[in-house]
Amino acid sequence: MVDFSRDRDRMVRLHLARRGISDPHVLEAMRCVPREAFVPKGLEEFAYDDSPLPISEGQTISQPYIVALMIEAAEIEPGERVLEIGAGSGYAAAVMSRIADRVYTIERQAVLADEARRRLADLGYDNVEVIEGDGTRGWAEAAPYDAIIVAAGGPAVPEPLRDQLRIGGRLVIPVGERQRSQRLVTLTRIGQTEFREDDLGEVRFVPLVGEHGWSEHDGRTEREARTAGSKRQAAHSGSVPELIREAAEDLPDIDAAAFGQLFDRFTEARVVLLGEASHGTSEFYRARAAITRRLIERHGFTIVAVEADWPDAAAVDRYVRHKPARPTAELAFRRFPTWMWRNIEVESFIEWLRERNGAVRNPAGQAGFFGLDMYNLNASVKTVLDYLDKVDPEAARVARERYGCLTPWQSEPSTYGRAALSAGYAPCENAVLGILRDLLEKHLQYAAADGESFLDAAQNARLVASAERYYRVMYYGSAESWNLRDRHMFETLEQLLAWRGEHGKAVVWAHNSHIGNAAATEMGVVRDELNIGQLCRERFGTAAALIGFGTDRGTVAAASDWDGPVEIKQVRPSYPGSYERLCRDGGVGRLLLDLRKGQHDALRHELLAPRLERFIGVIYRPETELESHYSEASLPQQFDAYVWFEESNAVTPLPTKRREGMPETYPFGL
Ligand code: SAH
Repeated sequence: MVDFSRDRDRMVRLHLARRGISDPHVLEAMRCVPREAFVPKGLEEFAYDDSPLPISEGQTISQPYIVALMIEAAEIEPGERVLEIGAGSGYAAAVMSRIADRVYTIERQAVLADEARRRLADLGYDNVEVIEGDGTRGWAEAAPYDAIIVAAGGPAVPEPLRDQLRIGGRLVIPVGERQRSQRLVTLTRIGQTEFREDDLGEVRFVPLVGEHGWSEHDGRTEREARTAGSKRQAAHSGSVPELIREAAEDLPDIDAAAFGQLFDRFTEARVVLLGEASHGTSEFYRARAAITRRLIERHGFTIVAVEADWPDAAAVDRYVRHKPARPTAELAFRRFPTWMWRNIEVESFIEWLRERNGAVRNPAGQAGFFGLDMYNLNASVKTVLDYLDKVDPEAARVARERYGCLTPWQSEPSTYGRAALSAGYAPCENAVLGILRDLLEKHLQYAAADGESFLDAAQNARLVASAERYYRVMYYGSAESWNLRDRHMFETLEQLLAWRGEHGKAVVWAHNSHIGNAAATEMGVVRDELNIGQLCRERFGTAAALIGFGTDRGTVAAASDWDGPVEIKQVRPSYPGSYERLCRDGGVGRLLLDLRKGQHDALRHELLAPRLERFIGVIYRPETELESHYSEASLPQQFDAYVWFEESNAVTPLPTKRREGMPETYPFGL
């Protein structure tokens, strides 16, 4: 058995004392309760990180700092009687039981209540009683309480809990109108009906579900859910959907000339960044192609830079700029996620680009196709996985999961949960980096032979160095890996613009999470992550146009796990309270919203407060959609414009094998 007492001391010093927790009872209690006994098997090593962690039933054990903060705010003293709502793992109850005389803790999920009861008994905490039930009603049997702590976020303070507080008692509860973020509030009962309220700041808890909390099935309060039904119509005519309807510009057919024209308002920009809300939706690709065709044909854009590996995009670039294919060239985009670029939507754009470039005699006027991503990202990941499959299948399994869930919009608990660190990888690390270095250097030699000046020797060395660093931090997971990648994309874009000279203009195709200003999303606000959209905004100001895309429902091409096969999945209708739901309630099936200041300011104002937004990458997990795919953002700060297709369809993937007899020149080899 590993001894965690030093980790515990360290946690108390670093995460608690240094951040202002000073109540000696709280610090002592946190120093003696073994948190590792409350987290799922395999996650023990994360037990003393200052992070929430997943437990069963999709719930979480709270972050140590928050547990300490709440107990300190509740001013729990020896001899007192305490009620907790949301026993979860039982950890916070155990900590409180080291201070108070008696702790009652209610849990609505039977599985969790049973586990917590057993765990607390095994550890000998005999002054805690675990009760299964709806804690929003409190627990009248043992009332009144000196302190009540609610470990889940509700829309308001449940009335029964106020009533069960003794005069002088303290109630600590996260309260918020939205499910994903709350204010932590302390109510002190100073009279029969009088309470003093203090605000401890912004927090995020799982929802408080029950009679005086949220409804189990959607984002409404239980009360609203009960009175809904006949009021469905009324719910749809809220003022925001109406404002959306008024501001909406109808989208013409994607292939009509008028579609591209709608975006002429952005032609002054040096960089037009076109997003997507998934990596597998046909409408997003076709719309981006239509806008890009217009920008190339009419407005002098000569760079199409996409979220893809450089070498694969380079094969396409040779084709569209009528350069001879490299004799040894592999087919482009043959590694996971193949459908992201190898699909009929992209193919038809590439054919158009080749034809159009063929008609332009001056090479400087031809538009090229480039990959912005970390050099050879997908190829490198694949190489690592193949190697690990051979030497250590368990390490390979863990690596697949890690690569699959390290997307910035997924909340931390699930990231940790699916990616428990095994001992398997560390010993392979140097070998893996060696393999990557060889792979990159070999490819870069080929690329240098192309003679394009933006890939000079210095750039090559930089690519290898930053890639190595990237794979290291990516595996261990942190904001840093995301930032490295997006900084790299931005620098590559700058190199491309410089190569085209003063008048170079670029269109970027990348996911909304890369091109929407990260400073306006959870990525930036909560996790210090930046992205190419933000860097472009900072560098180019209004000469960067950030255009986001969204949809309510339909189908999407995506995998269930990293390296898994492509599947055509149903996209669930959007979540109540999300931007997508507001657009859908606007009732205009396909629309463009101009979100720039001075356009539709009333709407802009209404949309500014952060709401949920859906992000689907190469992986889509509808089973855990809210946790895995929704994140908060402020749409008008994130994007200059938003393109909306209420219903959308999956891209059509192309086969990955070369067809007999096809000319070698075509990058997709079909
Ligand atoms: N204190 C816990 C953290 C629990 S997370 C710990 O230290 O591990 C919040 C818990 O509240 C979840 O387990 C959830 O199932 C539970 N919960 C949500 N609504 C509830 C309600 N109305 N009554 C009781 N428990 C509830």
